Amino acid sequence: LHLNAFHVIIYAMKRSVAAASLATSLALGAAGCGPTPERTPDPDVQKAFETTTQFWQSKGINLLGKHAVKLVEIREPGDVYTCHSNKGTRKITPTSDLARYCGPTNTVIISKQAYDEELRVKTVLGVSPEHFAQLIISHEVGHDIQDRRPRLKSPSGIQKELSADCIGSMASPGIPEVEAQSMLVGMGDHGYPPVDQRQGTDRQRFDAFKVGQLAHGDLALCAPSAFAQS
Ligand SMILES: [Zn+2]
Repeated sequence: LHLNAFHVIIYAMKRSVAAASLATSLALGAAGCGPTPERTPDPDVQKAFETTTQFWQSKGINLLGKHAVKLVEIREPGDVYTCHSNKGTRKITPTSDLARYCGPTNTVIISKQAYDEELRVKTVLGVSPEHFAQLIISHEVGHDIQDRRPRLKSPSGIQKELSADCIGSMASPGIPEVEAQSMLVGMGDHGYPPVDQRQGTDRQRFDAFKVGQLAHGDLALCAPSAFAQS
């Protein structure tokens, strides 16, 4: 499968012309229009996206057909990804979210600065960048799976988030338990990033990860109803 080129998009800058200084214009001009090294998508994130979609492909779930799930990195200062959903409009910036799934566009968005910052913290705890990328991406792709399966749908909240953790874990058999635990420290409620909906505590998230590891592809075990409501 050759997925990367078609499904990874570096979100184009949407700076207003008025806001762009001459210096910025010159810098952009010097960089040219083609891909430059600093515009290459994060390789671990890209790999995690491929690993996850290929995993689901192997389970008979094609995420890359009609309404394919997409991956977008928001990284340049001033870049914004606007997600319009029935819950309202959300603007995602390089520092706003770490990662988020936009249902109406089937898109996983990485807030690159927040992502890199969190990765630095986790690396100190012995987490590998590959596994960090896999945990984050597989969770967001988990939301795409939820959207496609009526029995996995649920309103926003803890159950939906723990279900996505579980689904993501299922697609991530290569993440050692001890690393998952380190990664989830501080990523539950009251942790980073700031959350507008409850994610579950660190402990609940780790428990959901463990359920996913033992589920052997049985998505029913990761249904939102399998998790506590509070
Ligand atoms: Zn989520």
